[in-house]
Amino acid sequence: MTESADSTQDHSISLLLVEEDDLSAKRLFEVLSRPEGTRFSITRVTDVEEALGKLQHESYDVLLLDLSIDEAGGLGSLMRARVAARHIPIVVLTYERDEAVALKAARAGAQDYLTKGEVTPALISRTLLHAVERHRMLRDLTEAQQRQHFLATHDSLTELPNRYSFLAQLGTAIADAKRNGSQLAVLFFDLDGFKAVNDNLGHPVGDELLVDVARRLRKMIRKSDMVARIGGDEFLAAIRNVPNVKAAERVANHIREQIEKPYHLAGAECWVSASVGIAMFPENGADVDEVIRHADTALYHAKESGKNRVSVFSHEMNEAATERFELVNGLREAIHGGQLLLMFQPQVNVVTEEIIGVETLVRWKHPTRGIVSPAEFIGVAEEAGMMVPLGEWVLRTACIAAASWERIPDARVAVNISGRQLDHEEFPNRVRAILEETGLEPHRLELELTESLAASDSALQGLQRLREMGIRTAIDDFGTGYSSLTLLKRLPVDTLKIDQSFVRGAAVTDPDAVILEAIIRIAHGLGLEVLAEGVETIEEMDSLHQRGCAMMQGYLFSKPIPRGELEDTVAGTEAAWRLPIERPETWSPPDAMPPPSSPPAASPDSASAEATEDDEDDA
Ligand code: C2E
Ligand code: MG
Ligand code: MG
Repeated sequence: MTESADSTQDHSISLLLVEEDDLSAKRLFEVLSRPEGTRFSITRVTDVEEALGKLQHESYDVLLLDLSIDEAGGLGSLMRARVAARHIPIVVLTYERDEAVALKAARAGAQDYLTKGEVTPALISRTLLHAVERHRMLRDLTEAQQRQHFLATHDSLTELPNRYSFLAQLGTAIADAKRNGSQLAVLFFDLDGFKAVNDNLGHPVGDELLVDVARRLRKMIRKSDMVARIGGDEFLAAIRNVPNVKAAERVANHIREQIEKPYHLAGAECWVSASVGIAMFPENGADVDEVIRHADTALYHAKESGKNRVSVFSHEMNEAATERFELVNGLREAIHGGQLLLMFQPQVNVVTEEIIGVETLVRWKHPTRGIVSPAEFIGVAEEAGMMVPLGEWVLRTACIAAASWERIPDARVAVNISGRQLDHEEFPNRVRAILEETGLEPHRLELELTESLAASDSALQGLQRLREMGIRTAIDDFGTGYSSLTLLKRLPVDTLKIDQSFVRGAAVTDPDAVILEAIIRIAHGLGLEVLAEGVETIEEMDSLHQRGCAMMQGYLFSKPIPRGELEDTVAGTEAAWRLPIERPETWSPPDAMPPPSSPPAASPDSASAEATEDDEDDA
């Protein structure tokens, strides 16, 4: 039997009453239907069976259950109601003031109890209301705790598990695999080209892309396996019960192909790809740490071998990784322990035969390996996040030297800049501080960067700020990167440095020479200065000169030399800072360049005076 009473008011409490006795029910209706106080909308049923049916289809705020339907103080009806009414509080009604039954009821999940003999309107209303409120608070608290737990274990952007929970899950999965003798594969993913999306389309679009990648990953990974975002554009997955490494490779390639498909974001179509490293348990590692580390090593290998591919860990990779690790540690010491040294290579104007500038080139004087070239350690420094301190040391050392060149007060000092430095928002401010500290005038500093570095919007802004400070900018190795003419037009630069690969062809009439000529003409048309790098022969020099390029740098004029040697050479010439380019009689091939006339004087900046490029050749 079902009866309903009273209010349909908004803030009424909907009560499901389980009461067998009509008289009791009537009394309760009367008590709860009084116009003052809280309004109740009551649905009455006469047994638990009926209540369970109602609970399945309707929602109620509270269940009021007469326990006297259970014989001898039993709680069978409460227990059954508890299961069906998990989400609402239950208040029980007992006949006598029976504390024992009430206590049992509380233990069995009732929020509160009322005794029939003393049900006053105020008491019953308050008891029901409090039961509802307490239950609501408890639910909110539980939800907040669950949310907190979710946040602690998941990545907030993609809602994939985070590193922390992945490690915990992987620990369990590895223990399982150990127990049942199965194999497990860990897949380490890193997106290729994600930075470009972020730089060119903005971070919100980058975020959307990550969410989409996560969605694709989730779809490709079985429920019983695991996938997590562990930061930036890096994801980890683990696959249980893999029969062999080939199967793991197939899964990885399949996922890689899905990630490669175009993304439609912010009204544009864009692409990224993924590099993947695989390590197997137990073959490639005995525990969570080792397997992940080796998957990371394999990932590095995939990146190094051209990206958008899958690499499986091997021990040879590990040796290379150990070497790299040692290099990174050594480099940290080098930056802070005075093992870096700076070489200086003059840039000349072949018409006036004067030094117009000097490019600084960094070296690492390694305690056991000898002189290490920047090609070997700049990339490592960038990856290991050490480019900012390294770059600052170079910049400061270069500015200190240039500020002291009284005999060429106009020559500029060219400093190579890494993308990691330009990415740093503070970079222009740091450059300004170093100029102030060293007293070098801004127009005497030229920052060299490659085309690809200058392509992003943030880099363009950085360059613009530097130029507004009066600093010169140059595009290095022009012709080897994107070489977009549109980009060239947009770039806030003063100088274009032609890569030596074009200079090599300058002396003969071949496609390189044609390109060279076009580059020179376009650069001049855009009002840029042009400087050719890597000039080694008189023929190359003449050919460049004939094509309208007078500024050059290369072994023909001087190899990179220590500061002391540069200053001695220049001071020794009769015209201040004039570099002799006598030809053809006295000219000798670059490999046989005559040694400097006097031994280099000790210079204030580190050990630089001791080393020459010949040391480097020996190393
Ligand atoms: P780059 O800036 O294009 O420097 C020119 C490179 O060509 C230098 O190599 C220089 O020694 C070499 N070179 C100069 N003249 C000739 C020549 O006539 N023939 C030949 N074959 N080579 C010549 P190096 O010093 O090994 O530097 C390599 C690259 O390392 C540089 O290329 C630059 O990109 C980077 N690098 C050097 N120092 C720094 C630095 O302080 N910061 C950063 N971020 N990168 C640096
Ligand atoms: Mg350079
Ligand atoms: Mg270059």
